[in-house]
Amino acid sequence: MSSEPHATSDEVSTGTDAGPDDANDVVLEAQGLKKHFDQSDGLVDKLLGAGGDVKAVDGVDLQVKDGETLAVVGESGCGKSTLGETLLNLQTATEGTVRYRGEDITGLTGRKMRPYRKDLQMIFQDPLASLNPRQTVGEIITAPMEVHDFPVSDPDVRTTADVTVADDVTDPVSVTVADDVDRAVRAEGGVSVVDVTVRSAEEADGLTVDLGFDDDVLSATVTEEGDGYEIRVAVDASENELRVHRAEQLLELVGLKPGHMDRYPGQFSGGQQQRVGIARALAVEPELIVADEPVSALDVSVQAQIINLLEELQEDLGLSLLFITHDLSVVRHIADRVAVMYLGEIVEIANTQELFEDPQHPYTKSLLSAVPRIDPETRTDRTILSGTVPSPIDPPSGCRFHTRCPAVIPPEDWGGDQAAFRDVFAFRNRILDDAIDPEAAAQRIGSESEDAVADHLIERSLDRDLEELPSDAADVVREAALALAGGDVEDAADVVGDAFTSPCEEQRPSRTHRETEGWASCHRLDPDAPGSAEIE
Ligand code: SF4
Repeated sequence: MSSEPHATSDEVSTGTDAGPDDANDVVLEAQGLKKHFDQSDGLVDKLLGAGGDVKAVDGVDLQVKDGETLAVVGESGCGKSTLGETLLNLQTATEGTVRYRGEDITGLTGRKMRPYRKDLQMIFQDPLASLNPRQTVGEIITAPMEVHDFPVSDPDVRTTADVTVADDVTDPVSVTVADDVDRAVRAEGGVSVVDVTVRSAEEADGLTVDLGFDDDVLSATVTEEGDGYEIRVAVDASENELRVHRAEQLLELVGLKPGHMDRYPGQFSGGQQQRVGIARALAVEPELIVADEPVSALDVSVQAQIINLLEELQEDLGLSLLFITHDLSVVRHIADRVAVMYLGEIVEIANTQELFEDPQHPYTKSLLSAVPRIDPETRTDRTILSGTVPSPIDPPSGCRFHTRCPAVIPPEDWGGDQAAFRDVFAFRNRILDDAIDPEAAAQRIGSESEDAVADHLIERSLDRDLEELPSDAADVVREAALALAGGDVEDAADVVGDAFTSPCEEQRPSRTHRETEGWASCHRLDPDAPGSAEIE
């Protein structure tokens, strides 16, 4: 592994997460991307500096490559949904850049964004809320086609026919297909194939031609040519008919029926609604889809179906997928790479197998320990993270995970083991967060005695017996608890703040790169960082 200093938005260089691949492989790229929300309620708040910015996304670098699925995982509130929206300019970036195929699209809106919107689509968490209840499914799926003048013929798509000639046709038959037939027949692998079945008939120049499902929008013209027949297949439909036909094809592709076109979203189950959302996202043949928690609002029984559908579509259509989820267990089978996000930052990125088999960052390890495993040999002890995700208005200094990290590094002069430091550090953080209530403690024990209240506070707020701590640390804990019991919260905070300080809160961790691909940012991985060592 090799380490590099943590890059700020001003310092980032390209290719930071995706290894040595050709830059042409990159569909979408973020560099130093930030999205901050101003939470000040009004002018007075602004003048007083109250409220502050919610740093929902705070310096993210990532790349999504051609045809890959990149999962972004993290707890609720870590900023991953805002990241997805900012990548697609549904939110305006505060800082940093977003590039699509190398073109800077940061902050584009309206008409300027329209050419890119076709290629960059989104599937939302709540399918019903994302579908207009007053539009039929047909209207919902054809709407983006109208906006983007779709379907158009792609000059790179080859058109051809898969011809079946019945035994009763004895004369030679040749079939040609017009170049723009890909407007009506979905292309796969760069080829649009029309199924042509030819039979003999009394009328129609001696032949009938069946074009299957595409009969609605294609026509076959038969002419006698020498001693045989020439059949020419061409588009024979209005723009609107083509859109309706394509919408019917998309419904079939996502496991629904063309007959569902006239129904309304409220007439479907949650899973079916999400299929409609997927069909809408696919309607204009995007290159990349951001799927924001696409299954978390669905029944467990339906989740696997939608995940499998996305996986199949991603493979069949060569889509790139940014898959946002709080649930690491769902990404194992669908993602090629995983980016782990905490409090607006990416803390680890790696290919999926390596991340699951050899996670580097303590936060990733904690998330993975909560993933149910069937195989008992791969089961690990579950790490319960203490506390909640801190406020993104004022994120913790240094490593943002330090207030909850099970591997937080003790100061050099710490006389005990890491586990003991972790417990006093958690005790300290409870005091600094003003999460210990001495008055409630006094009421609970029915005593005003400062000694008794301090004992009770230690018993309730320190996750081990005082006697198990190094004696100097035990003295500090006792002194802080007595200050709390005496009502002097500031003094208590000063006492523990000075005594129990981790290098993790003083310095931002560098990125340490894997030998293969990806990196994690943790002092424990960086041989040059203070206190680096194997995580206990
Ligand atoms: S830098 Fe420190 S607090 Fe952050 S993840 Fe590593 S050990 Fe934990």
